[in-house]
Amino acid sequence: MLTVIKADITTLHVDAIVNAANNSLLGGGGVDGAIHRAAGPELLEECRKLGGCATGDAKLTKGYRLPAHYVIHTVGPVWHGGTSGEPGLLASCYRRSLEIAESTGAKSIAFPGIGTGVYGYPVDHAAKIAVDTVRETLKSCPGIEKVVFCCFSEKDRAVYEGLIG
Ligand code: ADP
Repeated sequence: MLTVIKADITTLHVDAIVNAANNSLLGGGGVDGAIHRAAGPELLEECRKLGGCATGDAKLTKGYRLPAHYVIHTVGPVWHGGTSGEPGLLASCYRRSLEIAESTGAKSIAFPGIGTGVYGYPVDHAAKIAVDTVRETLKSCPGIEKVVFCCFSEKDRAVYEGLIG
């Protein structure tokens, strides 16, 4: 089941939330900063041991003080106009995050709008990739029952609503 809400992702009671991180995994602004603040310093300690993350890939940590049990850290592409492999890398973020969620036994997962903040990916393009990739990848993730697209603005929520109905 795919759902859309407007919320702060750090408040969600799901098995896993996805973080739009950077390659270092050592924290940043935006949703990354909010997740680290809410999870507490143990999250950064665990992230330090992961050795970073390639763009388009994802890595798993515990959720510490978050209601979510796990955080899946993925690194979206920086938007350079769309012809530098951005669509494939963004799709890979969603695919890898779901594969990790499935392999860890998560039944519910929430995604922020990966890449659509500081990294500059246009929301309408990013949302289409997000929804299409999640739908396709869920066919091989029988354990995942619920995917939440967690939007941070009413405008973004409307874009996702238009795609999911
Ligand atoms: P990126 O570097 O991948 O662009 P950002 O964190 O800058 O990541 O932004 C990604 C998306 O997350 C944006 O749509 C932003 O509005 C949203 N966002 C920021 N804070 C939160 C939050 N606490 N919960 C959910 N979404 C958030």
